[in-house]
Amino acid sequence: MPEQLLIPPEGEKIQLKDYDPDYTEGLDKDEAKTLEEGFERRLAELQDMLYAQSMKSLLVVFQAMDAGGKDGAIKKVFDSVNPQGVRAANFKVPTPIELGHDFLWRIHQQVPQKGYIGIFNRSHYEDVLVVRVNEIVPRSVWEKRFDMINEFERLLAENNTAILKFYLHISKDEQRERLQARLDDPEKRWKFSVGDLPVRERWDDYMTAYEDVFSRCNTPYAPWHIVPANKKWYRDLVITRAIVEKMESMGLAYPEPDFDYATVVIPK
Ligand code: ATP
Ligand code: MG
Repeated sequence: MPEQLLIPPEGEKIQLKDYDPDYTEGLDKDEAKTLEEGFERRLAELQDMLYAQSMKSLLVVFQAMDAGGKDGAIKKVFDSVNPQGVRAANFKVPTPIELGHDFLWRIHQQVPQKGYIGIFNRSHYEDVLVVRVNEIVPRSVWEKRFDMINEFERLLAENNTAILKFYLHISKDEQRERLQARLDDPEKRWKFSVGDLPVRERWDDYMTAYEDVFSRCNTPYAPWHIVPANKKWYRDLVITRAIVEKMESMGLAYPEPDFDYATVVIPK
């Protein structure tokens, strides 16, 4: 991974305006796509071993502003892996039952079991983002959640779940273009929600809330990646590469059979 300021140092206050959403480390589209395809092939191999070994799991968290590209990234990055080994979860406005529990209750149920990759499209971070910006609970409540999230993620990490968190960083201009494209294109119109417009108005408040997330919840066992995401092809490369690099370090291997396979004779 080149030095591209993807992971801010732990505990350090960062400002998102210092991160260029157009950054591509000098690659053009074709170069990035070729690289990405290579990492995708390796991802498929690693996922096969993860599944076969069934001793560890991987949780990949996606957060972004509306039209930030979570859906597109999930579709592209994982399109070569065996769907049987992957579970994707979407976290929407909590149901009354979910609201009747602590904020991590619904999250914990979707965490990947050993052998699996779990994808979170939105996550427990909504509870310190939209919940904070819209003042759904008072500061005294959401303030405590940063530490709770860190402890929760530590619990998962110590239970052999590797965690990667991606914030897809688009500019406000890029969001406008993408929202407009959703309106203009009949095949994308279903994705448009008028509810996204008031959220866009609070853009700066969201950036502040995200900055606090990155300075409070960026740990060695569950690091944040700020992914330059204006260019979809670069975004996908960054994510695929980071996942492959993580999985390469997980000690994945096909399990040894617990019997003497050389002596087994398959009957006719
Ligand atoms: P897309 O990003 O493609 O539009 P989506 O994830 O936004 O898809 P929607 O149904 O449009 O799907 O939106 C889900 C909404 O649920 C988001 O506005 C999100 O902020 C909100 N949400 C998620 N978790 C919580 C939470 N814990 N409390 C309140 N709102 C939440
Ligand atoms: Mg939406």
